[in-house]
Amino acid sequence: YAKVQGRAGYAVFDPVMHTRAVDRLQLETDLRRAIATHEFQLYYQPIVSLSTGKISGFEALVRWFHPTRGMVSPSEFIPVAEDTGLIVPIGALVLQEACRQLRVWQLKYPDFTDDLTISVNLSSVQFRQSGLIEQIDEILQETGLDPSFLKLEITESTIMENADSAKALLEQLKARNILLCIDDFGTGYSSLSYLHRWPIDTLKIDRSFVNGIGIEAHSREIIWTIVTLAGNLGMEVVAEGVETEQQLTQLRLLKRECHYGQGYLFSRPVDSEAAVKLFASELRW
Ligand code: C2E
Ligand code: MG
Ligand code: MG
Ligand code: MG
Repeated sequence: YAKVQGRAGYAVFDPVMHTRAVDRLQLETDLRRAIATHEFQLYYQPIVSLSTGKISGFEALVRWFHPTRGMVSPSEFIPVAEDTGLIVPIGALVLQEACRQLRVWQLKYPDFTDDLTISVNLSSVQFRQSGLIEQIDEILQETGLDPSFLKLEITESTIMENADSAKALLEQLKARNILLCIDDFGTGYSSLSYLHRWPIDTLKIDRSFVNGIGIEAHSREIIWTIVTLAGNLGMEVVAEGVETEQQLTQLRLLKRECHYGQGYLFSRPVDSEAAVKLFASELRW
């Protein structure tokens, strides 16, 4: 609410700001209720191997079905959830449900799921929360999911904001065989000099670079640089936001291998039933 302060430090009544503050308070109240009344659902977006064209895993993306507003996008409510700390219980629900779902699929559809992974986004607030490791251990134990099928997505800024504790935390996660992925890679302030010291398995190239790949030379060069860097460090790469055949072709033409792609070209995020249809139909791109 610092923005409500005028230049001299006293509060100026601004009706627009006021409406925003009220909306935000309402959103916070609604979020608290939503946790209690289970208004969240996970959607799943496939991550596709660019060499085989097969689905290699899914990213779990939370959706909020608000009783009167309908579906609220995470970009609207995650920031509020982070500011209020509500991301901690929401994040726990998401982790629990994602692990439970993959375990159910493994038991029900063993032929299609033997190497499917599930990716879960972790907010920097969750990353800072004490007891995160214990919570993850508990969820893995309860759901029976082998940790090597769980992939956690964190951003560079999450690591950099928690520089002192981050490396140790990442190592604790890695020691459990959990897979680690840097999300939106290339948009954070550059951490190239640290990258090799972190136990990261995967770099996910931000979709802003993938967007321009067929259009602008510099996007292609940035992607090529990230893919080369990842290859040299023994990491895998996911290109996020693949929307067109042309982008897919360009990614497959890169001299260094871009292992995976994710985006609307393959599928939008879908509910769990539709996700089963995707992997059980053995689609190939
Ligand atoms: P993200 O982790 O980078 O997830 C990818 C976002 O890009 C998703 O948006 C996805 O629907 C969208 N996307 C995928 N393919 C395409 C494409 O081809 N074109 C375009 N234009 N967009 C594409 P979504 O689901 O709205 O999520 C937005 C962000 O909210 C996520 O970005 C993530 O940072 C956050 N988020 C979502 N679910 C969770 C969650 O369970 N926990 C936390 N902490 N954050 C979450
Ligand atoms: Mg993500
Ligand atoms: Mg991303
Ligand atoms: Mg993002």
